[in-house]
Amino acid sequence: AIEQSEKVPVTVALGDGIGPEIVQATLKILTAAGARIAPEYIDIGEQLYLAGHSSGIAPQAWTSLRRNRVFLKGPVTTPSGDGYKSLNVTIRKTLGLYANVRPCVSYAPFVATLHPQLDIVIVRENEEDLYAGIEHRQTDEVFQCLKLISRPGCEKIVRYAFDYARSHGRKKVTCMVKDNIMKMTDGLFYKVFQEISVEYPEIVAERYIIDIGAARLATQPGRFDVIVTPNLYGDILSDITAEMTGSVGLAPSANIGDSIAMFEAIHGSAPDIAGQGIANPSGLLLAAVMMLVHIKQAEVAARIHNAWLATLEEGIHTADLHSTNSQRLVSTNEFAEAVIQRLGQLP
Ligand code: ATP
Ligand code: MG
Repeated sequence: AIEQSEKVPVTVALGDGIGPEIVQATLKILTAAGARIAPEYIDIGEQLYLAGHSSGIAPQAWTSLRRNRVFLKGPVTTPSGDGYKSLNVTIRKTLGLYANVRPCVSYAPFVATLHPQLDIVIVRENEEDLYAGIEHRQTDEVFQCLKLISRPGCEKIVRYAFDYARSHGRKKVTCMVKDNIMKMTDGLFYKVFQEISVEYPEIVAERYIIDIGAARLATQPGRFDVIVTPNLYGDILSDITAEMTGSVGLAPSANIGDSIAMFEAIHGSAPDIAGQGIANPSGLLLAAVMMLVHIKQAEVAARIHNAWLATLEEGIHTADLHSTNSQRLVSTNEFAEAVIQRLGQLP
């Protein structure tokens, strides 16, 4: 029999900016909800960059990540200037986290939004495209960035999107590319999409050129269900879509590889509001909910999700969501306490 009290080791990083505030709020809720996890902390981000690690991570941290294979990560700041590599890109590539799954949902009427019909999952390719980090200087005045798209990379992400749609009861997968201009790179992505879509006859497959697709998304989000797209487009689309639901602070992400998974908010370290205790912990909390489902603690995940929904429904909102005086404006910690009070209540 499975030992019910056995704790699953999870690697946790606080990150930079608002990171420590939202990670602590999230872990407090997980503990109160009875999540069976044993956090193992690693240091990443600014302090590591400043200590001379050009990728913002120390060698021993990889050992923890490879052993535990589950990672709850706060946002990090990449220092500007030459010689600093994005830690997010390094982690995704080193651990082979090829799929970045970003659900965005409107919570109307409880959270003010122009788009109450929005319920979209963006599946963003996570290792290739312009993020391959291959840039060079041609002359003093001309710089070049290589856009890298591979058939195996396309096959993995497109198959992931269709499998996700099938297992989550989604009806449609939309491919967004600019293959009228980038005929070889985006062309390959769409070609693979067409090939794989025939294996999923019950799911509608459609394609949009990214410019008009993004415009339609902004006016008629109810038309979209699952969206699969290359790395950079996915980054931009998911910030827009999350913000359309009310705040970029609401959306979680799961970064999925063959054997390792990382869970984080879609937003960055928000240095403009760091240290003020006002950040919305929801994106990271919902990422932790996805993590609990991943480690087969779906019951605890549902309990947290329901308590979080009840908190929003009662108009208890952090500053980014606060829109009317009938709502109660709360700090990060007060929000976490409100969620904890509602654990165990029926939905
Ligand atoms: P990155 O390059 O790391 O993605 P970014 O440039 O996209 O970072 P963010 O750090 O995501 O920037 O912040 C964008 C804006 O959204 C900022 O004004 C920030 O204060 C706000 N913001 C981000 N996350 C939250 C949050 N959890 N709660 C409240 N506001 C947030
Ligand atoms: Mg961003």
